[in-house]
Amino acid sequence: MTHSDAESAAPEIGRPVVFRSGTVLTMDDAGTVLTGADVLVVDDRIAAVGPGLDVPEGTQEIDARGGIVLPGMIDTHRHMWQTAMRGYGADWTLTQYFVWNYLEHGRKFRPQDIAAGNRLSALESLEAGVTTTVDWSHNLHSTDHAEAAIEALRSVPGRFVLAYGNIQAGPWEWTADPAVRALLERLRDAKDDLLGVQLAFDVTGDPSFPEKAAFEVARELGLPVTTHAGVWGATNDDGIRLMHEHGFMTPETTYVHAATLTRDSYQRIAATGGSISVATESECSAGQGHAPTAQVLQYGIPVSLSMDTSVWWSGDMFSAMRATLNADRMAEHMDAHLQGETVTHLRLRAQKVVEWATRGGAHALGRSDVGSLEAGKKADVVLIKNDDSPVSFPLLNPYGHVVFQAQRGDVHTVLVDGRVVKHAHKLVGVDLAAVRREVESTVEHLRSELGEEAWVAGMNPDLPSTEVLDNPYQYTDYKSDATHAGGEDRVLGR
Ligand SMILES: [Zn+2]
Repeated sequence: MTHSDAESAAPEIGRPVVFRSGTVLTMDDAGTVLTGADVLVVDDRIAAVGPGLDVPEGTQEIDARGGIVLPGMIDTHRHMWQTAMRGYGADWTLTQYFVWNYLEHGRKFRPQDIAAGNRLSALESLEAGVTTTVDWSHNLHSTDHAEAAIEALRSVPGRFVLAYGNIQAGPWEWTADPAVRALLERLRDAKDDLLGVQLAFDVTGDPSFPEKAAFEVARELGLPVTTHAGVWGATNDDGIRLMHEHGFMTPETTYVHAATLTRDSYQRIAATGGSISVATESECSAGQGHAPTAQVLQYGIPVSLSMDTSVWWSGDMFSAMRATLNADRMAEHMDAHLQGETVTHLRLRAQKVVEWATRGGAHALGRSDVGSLEAGKKADVVLIKNDDSPVSFPLLNPYGHVVFQAQRGDVHTVLVDGRVVKHAHKLVGVDLAAVRREVESTVEHLRSELGEEAWVAGMNPDLPSTEVLDNPYQYTDYKSDATHAGGEDRVLGR
């Protein structure tokens, strides 16, 4: 077999795989980076990492020269069902999202629509090297919806966590439903390594703390809770304080966004060991508050990254890492400038956000067996390599390369649990046409339920008027033209 034949054939399931001669970001405790090194996978585990490995007979070789091998990335918060309406809300704020989610389209999702969104989102994860995704599934109106979500996740060979939620009812209501509890117990007892389970709900800060009953169910069932905390205008310090006072803040708890909180809340989170899921691409445009990257460093809080939803943003962790570095650095510079000072050394480094995107997610999920490339760990492995791209070389700073140079199209090979799910830039064994048909039928359903006018209006929120300021360096012609060319429309906000 020639070299090119070996490269084009997707490795067969069940045979060992070795990545040869790559730059390996092990993401181990010491932050070991190896160059010209191999990663050997046997069954579902990483068997060895190092240069010139001896491999079992029949091992399939993947040439990693010029590429970067890293652990599979982990997204700790994505509303996967919403991927069925990919990109629809590009110009939204949280206000428009809430209308869409709670009052309009969200209510129209049938079980098959949840499945369509989940399946597409799950494939999107694998394709981008995200080997574990937490499905923050907060539109499960019924257990039929939940069964559909589960079916879709199980149909895609990635690692997922179903974070069960239902925005159409109070968490104290749906967690009391015996059918929901039976389903949660079934998932928990299955101990499926590829499908974990959590509870997903928010804490409003209502002093009567109605969410207490839901936390008690989580405790009784032994399930972690993930919650949108510190979201401007929605959740705040009161929710954190209530959780803490009632003993519900645990190391397993994930606080999503955790943006508009005060020192007191960050201290409570730090003291109880939970982790924050930073979704910077989301926080930058929706308005939850600034991504709390300065605070997590200051208070020593564990961090993972997340993408939130593809109804607005992208679903890949390259964007998460890049947005997170950009936002933190912008804040650091702006804070200094307000003091008349200059930042000469940045506090947040590329290596750190790669850690957050890999081992940070593993920590948040309580999984010590993923998130790094070390012998004995589960084989969730990503190869970034694109020989046809001028962006692939020179490869000088591997962490910087992952964050600022690479993108999802450069993901060459992905293994989950030792199984090759993407190879030579293509998903393996996926009928994307069938998934497309499924999603198209969901879009058709939602569009006809809402009606054309509401559909178009939902995608195009009213534009606030912008006053063009007088400018002494410009003469009158420009201004009068502008007035005739649409000034009145602008006043009306169109
Ligand atoms: Zn969210």
